Amino acid sequence: MSISPLMPVYPRCGVRPVRGEHCHLIDEDGTRYLDFASGIAVNLLGHSHAGLIGAIQRQAETLMHVSNLYGSPQGEELAAKLVEKTFADTVFFTNSGAEAVECAIKAARAYHQHEDGNPERTELITFTNAFHGRTMATISASNQEKMHKGFKPLLAGFQYAEFDNLEAAKALVGPKTAGFLVEPIQGEGGIRPASQAFISGLRALCDEHDLMLAFDEVQCGVARTGKLYAYEHYGVAPDIMATAKGIGGGFPFGACLATEKAARGMGFGTHGSTYGGNPLAMAAGMAVMDAVANDEFLAEVTAKGERLRARLEQFIGNYPELFELVRGKGLMLGLKMKVESRPFFVHLRDNHQLLTVAAGDNTLRVLPPLVADDAEFDEFFDKLSAGAASYTVPQAA
Ligand SMILES: *Cc1c(COP(=O)(O)O)cnc(C)c1O
Repeated sequence: MSISPLMPVYPRCGVRPVRGEHCHLIDEDGTRYLDFASGIAVNLLGHSHAGLIGAIQRQAETLMHVSNLYGSPQGEELAAKLVEKTFADTVFFTNSGAEAVECAIKAARAYHQHEDGNPERTELITFTNAFHGRTMATISASNQEKMHKGFKPLLAGFQYAEFDNLEAAKALVGPKTAGFLVEPIQGEGGIRPASQAFISGLRALCDEHDLMLAFDEVQCGVARTGKLYAYEHYGVAPDIMATAKGIGGGFPFGACLATEKAARGMGFGTHGSTYGGNPLAMAAGMAVMDAVANDEFLAEVTAKGERLRARLEQFIGNYPELFELVRGKGLMLGLKMKVESRPFFVHLRDNHQLLTVAAGDNTLRVLPPLVADDAEFDEFFDKLSAGAASYTVPQAA
């Protein structure tokens, strides 16, 4: 047998972390890495955060799991907190980002298939280079062929328009359109913030035609951009929103948020999840919300994001042959490179013990824990500068 016990779907690298300390990961052989990937925008409180550990420990000792057949004091508390802090009136808890997007897709369809609705409206318009997860529905919601290959047929009911192109989106709206599903700031696509005109325009189209505006904030949500959710930057509320990644600070869970109107199709028995919203996840979520959902913390993320960005802008000026520009918001930043970003990301990781994430459009994602501060930023620039200085662009074969 040559297949590995771990199904070989990831091209795993040689870094094998066994421990985390604040903004560092420690490898099996003791090597320390500066973690500016944060488990891909997940570990927003860094590693081994005492408050988060304590909350999970206390809950694990008290009650780890019960069925959604019973009342959920823990779920009610976190849902009420999310409702208080966002556009939403109601929350469905999931175990992952893809499941949160699945729920958003189902809610958008069910809105129109409700008795007062228009059941013809079954199609969601989604956008080029989007990433919504790896389930059948969420790969169908992306136009990226590399995620479709080998898994056809796709789920019907998605149309793709060019990201950030309002006219292209408008041109696809027809009698079958149910709404839009969009990342306000694309993550995997290369840290690309949508323009104000695009987001406002989608909202206007939804209002005009009674369509659902669903935001995928799985990556850009939960304080990452200096607002609790990125839609606040635009002053445009969605009808439905998927959130995950940072929401558990490393504990795996997600949520689908919706207005009362948008959730009208999601009645008793329409949807469910065995683990979704279990007490352990809710304890992690409350600890994260307690830490990040306040003006002081959010203002700090904004200020740190501005400092990091200013330093990045200055830095790239030293290497005009490598870097084109800096983009993003808060501590969700991307360095768009003039050369392939993936080999440079590997070089930083393997030769300078700096963890970042490669993304589409030759972008290097810089996603520090939100608790990183100037000491970690100094270390980051030491490593990044050394990495850029020692880098030789691989010659194309
Ligand atoms: C990561 C991500 C997802 C999928 O989340 P999983 O937890 O991996 O299922 C969906 N949407 C966006 C924008 C993401 O970044």
